[in-house]
Amino acid sequence: MLKVDDEERNIIKEILNKTIEYYGKHDFLGISYYETDSLIKRQIDNYHDLQNRGLEEVIKNFFVISIDEVVAISDNAISVGVRASVERYIKCLNNSEVIDGTRDYVAEKKYEFILTKSEGKSQSSCMYCGAIINEDEVKCPYCGTPIIAKNSNWLVADIKEV
Ligand SMILES: [Zn+2]
Repeated sequence: MLKVDDEERNIIKEILNKTIEYYGKHDFLGISYYETDSLIKRQIDNYHDLQNRGLEEVIKNFFVISIDEVVAISDNAISVGVRASVERYIKCLNNSEVIDGTRDYVAEKKYEFILTKSEGKSQSSCMYCGAIINEDEVKCPYCGTPIIAKNSNWLVADIKEV
């Protein structure tokens, strides 16, 4: 089973802060460095679903206050209980009216993150057009999408507010 020491807890804190920062900016290429493909896909779907309804989810100022609990759930996955502060609301795109949450209000929330140990491999196919990518490519030769090497340490596989 995996063991997570203090140094690794700090790395995990940084990864969670960065992941949510990119998520708040809808920067899916930025996120892809830290997250599993299935979670990125879920976020892209959620993003387009809200957009089709004329809405936008705003997530700002996410900050991990503490990592309370780390439990190994398999040989390459851990569950991480986190207390974090975050400003989060949903607004209408046309008139900026907030329909859920409160603007300029930073709340403390508890999350459970599932992280998996990354194998440090690059993508083998383009996330956007599906083209097969050679290991040494930095850009997709067909659509120009940057090819991002996965973080060599941990990848976020799931996020739950608890
Ligand atoms: Zn491509």
